[in-house]
Amino acid sequence: MAAGASKRALVLLPFILATAVAVAPPSGEPHPARAEVLISAGHEGRPESCHFFSHRPCNLGTPGEREATPIVADEATRALRAAGIDVLRLPADYGGRFEVRAAIFIHFDGAVPACSTGASIGYPAGDGEAARAWRQLYAPLFPFRFMPDNFTESLSHYYGFRTVEPNPTTLVLELGELTCPVQHLWLKTRYKWLGDVVAHFVSERLGKGNVPLPPAPKSSRS
Ligand SMILES: [Zn+2]
Repeated sequence: MAAGASKRALVLLPFILATAVAVAPPSGEPHPARAEVLISAGHEGRPESCHFFSHRPCNLGTPGEREATPIVADEATRALRAAGIDVLRLPADYGGRFEVRAAIFIHFDGAVPACSTGASIGYPAGDGEAARAWRQLYAPLFPFRFMPDNFTESLSHYYGFRTVEPNPTTLVLELGELTCPVQHLWLKTRYKWLGDVVAHFVSERLGKGNVPLPPAPKSSRS
């Protein structure tokens, strides 16, 4: 019986190897796919995509977030591409690993109690230079609280960090707290503008494209 089992294993071995090759992501190691910039819209594509990534929590985001992040990500992508920058625009869940010069993961926060957070930044442990640059740009534009960097586990150990090769601009950008009514009111009229601010930031980080900082919308009612 043991001999039969090992014979069957030998017969099956080529099939198992072929299957393993066939299901390996086309961009799998050791040669990650290349782009200049990766932009992912937080929670976009869920819950449908969760089925394929059952090892991670199927976090659907705070109410309104799944609708908002693609607007910001699409506009940032549009502005960067218009400036000649190569952007890989991805939803929340995707396969493969990427070699990029910047990876931006767009999110909004939700909190209990409401209005206990605001904007924040996550990045892989180590170099916080890109986070300092984003804070310097966004803090004067965002008239609410700015939380300390990496103030939650999901910021400091964001799953998307493992999908990119180390690069100097890998950031989770939480652009504000949607559960806070006054922040939500301010944010919801500015999603496209936020995309343009992100595009400007990335363009500056890369030293390419010269995407201008867009003028701030005049009124929170606009
Ligand atoms: Zn989120």
